[in-house]
Amino acid sequence: MIEKKQFYINGKWVAPAEGRDHSVINPSTEEPCAVISLGGQADTDAAVAAAKAALPGWMATPVEERITLLENLLAVYMDRAEDLAQAMTVAMGAPIDMSRTSQVGAGSYHLKNFIRAAKAYEWEHPFDNRTDGARIIHEAVGVCALITPWNWPMNQVTLKVGAALVAGNTMVLKPSEESPLDAIVFAELMDEAGFPPGVFNLVNGDGVGVGSQLSAHTDVDMVSFTGSTRAGKLISKSAADTLKRVHLELGGKGANLIFADADEKAVKRGVLHVMENSGQSCNAPTRMMVEAAAYDRVVEEATAMAQKIQVGPADQSGRHIGPVVNESQWNKIQDLIQTGIDDGARLIAGGVGRPEGLNKGFYVRPTVFADVTPDMTIANEEIFGPVLSIMKFESEDDAVRVANDTPYGLTNYVQSADPARRNRLARQLRSGMVEMNGMSRGNGAPFGGMKMSGNGREGGHYGIHDFVEIKSVSGWTEDETA
Ligand code: NAD
Repeated sequence: MIEKKQFYINGKWVAPAEGRDHSVINPSTEEPCAVISLGGQADTDAAVAAAKAALPGWMATPVEERITLLENLLAVYMDRAEDLAQAMTVAMGAPIDMSRTSQVGAGSYHLKNFIRAAKAYEWEHPFDNRTDGARIIHEAVGVCALITPWNWPMNQVTLKVGAALVAGNTMVLKPSEESPLDAIVFAELMDEAGFPPGVFNLVNGDGVGVGSQLSAHTDVDMVSFTGSTRAGKLISKSAADTLKRVHLELGGKGANLIFADADEKAVKRGVLHVMENSGQSCNAPTRMMVEAAAYDRVVEEATAMAQKIQVGPADQSGRHIGPVVNESQWNKIQDLIQTGIDDGARLIAGGVGRPEGLNKGFYVRPTVFADVTPDMTIANEEIFGPVLSIMKFESEDDAVRVANDTPYGLTNYVQSADPARRNRLARQLRSGMVEMNGMSRGNGAPFGGMKMSGNGREGGHYGIHDFVEIKSVSGWTEDETA
């Protein structure tokens, strides 16, 4: 059994001041795989104090030095990639090949993009060419609390830590108690990379404990959170008394508009994207909306595709999907599948219960519903499991109206051969991202949502931008010797 009860505070691994033991459960086996400690107020206070003390020095460090340290971090991240992959696989259930590629790869991808973006970032510049002495300085927000979820752990940790670091902030990371092991390896990497003590601190804890203590803390200037819309609201409320900056990346219920002229891989792409990571992605295109003329063909293709998806233990090599993260998520998904059936949606693949041959572990059958209507629960709630809802639309206007008729606004998708239609829809869809014809967003392009999907942008230039204050200076002298 792995025992990792210490926290990383002020450049040292320290015993918790008021920790409580917490078992991390391997979702493939339902057995405990590690014991960590959940901290209390004294641990939160110690980490925040260390970050506060380190702030003036780190803010004043030339950005070139901060970038060099980020480059060191990337190098040690690559060296320890296997440890990170194993930690994610055992604690949150991503199949090992996927952990080694997409899960670990997401982290190195973000670090590289931050290094590139930081080199090009205009940290200071004249306001305009008409006003003498007017200058803009982009500087750190201050002490940041970074609260991350379990579904894409290294993706989320690097998106927040990379941006915060390079912009000169100091920080306390509270990873999810469901996937703390990879974050502990990450803290070891931060130590190895040579960041000054106190710049980065890690305290494990749960949402009601360390999570809310950080959100409410008077010495925390910003909280950056990824996770459920439920927790996002609570964090906003507990942050309100100190008026700190609140940066949120929350849930989604993405629509994938498939027109009759879509390319032949569109349906396969859409199904795989929903099932990937066992459906635990906030940007999953879980509402497949299909033009009436192509509807029957798409339903048939989606069924065949879902039936091909294998489910199995995370430590096995292969392209299968693993379990979902824990029992409460498994139960929630089962309830929603049952609700879909009860509400009259047509179950065409999967269903309730575990896949055949898997009697233990939080495995979910890859499930597809057809004939889903906008009023059904499964068309509205984020399921966070491998469950796809297929809906029919008659006209483009109809499709846009239904796609936008959701409290969420993270990512929408369009599949069509018609370029004018694609551009029109890119403007009309109310989401922070619109991905069309399977084209990926650019390296370092901003990731984030509108409405109840949050307000932050992460990755690359815009990700850094969200971690800076903009200072407007007058009376600036270009020639300091004059
Ligand atoms: P969660 O939002 O409860 O947990 C995510 C992180 O927030 C964890 O670190 C947790 O400790 C922390 N947290 C929880 N409550 C908090 C609070 N009051 N104050 C401060 N921090 C708090 O997510 P979950 O319970 O693990 O998953 C539930 C649902 O959340 C899922 O079904 C899914 O819909 C959604 N989810 C979305 C994302 C996403 O990327 N959008 C990620 C994870 C979960």
